[in-house]
Amino acid sequence: MAMILIAEDEQAISVLLKYNLEKAGYETVCVAHGNRVLSAVEKNMPSLILLDWMLPEISGLELCKVIRNNPDWKNIPIIMLTAKGQEEDKIAGLSAGADDYVTKPFSVPELLARIKTNLRRSSSVASAIKKEYVFRDIVLNTVEKKVFRGENYVQLGPTEFRILQMLISNPQQVFSRDEVLKTVWGQSIYVEPRTVDVHIRRLRKALNEFGPDYIRTIRATGYSLDDHQVEE
Ligand code: CA
Repeated sequence: MAMILIAEDEQAISVLLKYNLEKAGYETVCVAHGNRVLSAVEKNMPSLILLDWMLPEISGLELCKVIRNNPDWKNIPIIMLTAKGQEEDKIAGLSAGADDYVTKPFSVPELLARIKTNLRRSSSVASAIKKEYVFRDIVLNTVEKKVFRGENYVQLGPTEFRILQMLISNPQQVFSRDEVLKTVWGQSIYVEPRTVDVHIRRLRKALNEFGPDYIRTIRATGYSLDDHQVEE
């Protein structure tokens, strides 16, 4: 299921968008402040961003440039939402790297159609760099953001997914809590190292429902994905 980040400070619009997007089958995350947008992108890795032009603290235009300059985020489609309808604003938005541009008040069916088009375009870009990681019976697909264990679909939260992606892309390699923190949460966000343990526990619980425990805990060091049962 595609996750859409709604960055909009007008509550009425944000509620309207959330309602309609969820009805259309998308997951949503809403933020109302410019300075929350980047951490929300980092945390949720959305499939698409609806970005209001006029946001408190940091404008949508500035945020658009920052997102486009980040190698991990540069392929996330951005649709700018704006009350301004002037041609020069549209050009500014598009040259800042927005993929599309919708003027308020917008029609919901039209916006949904644009979202669909932009998601389709980005998934065809993503499939060109399609990645599937396999470890024993665990399969992680970075395009569909899905994990299977044999025939079983393993439901993971976005954080657990990213931790597993890190482990499965380098099996047998031991990652320290700090490395997990930096890769999964990013350097800019402060998270207690213990939080890693909490998410590892959740990841283990979800995975082990369908097979043996391949996550190895190396005491005082960190974690790895490994099928050698090494006792501490
Ligand atoms: Ca606004």
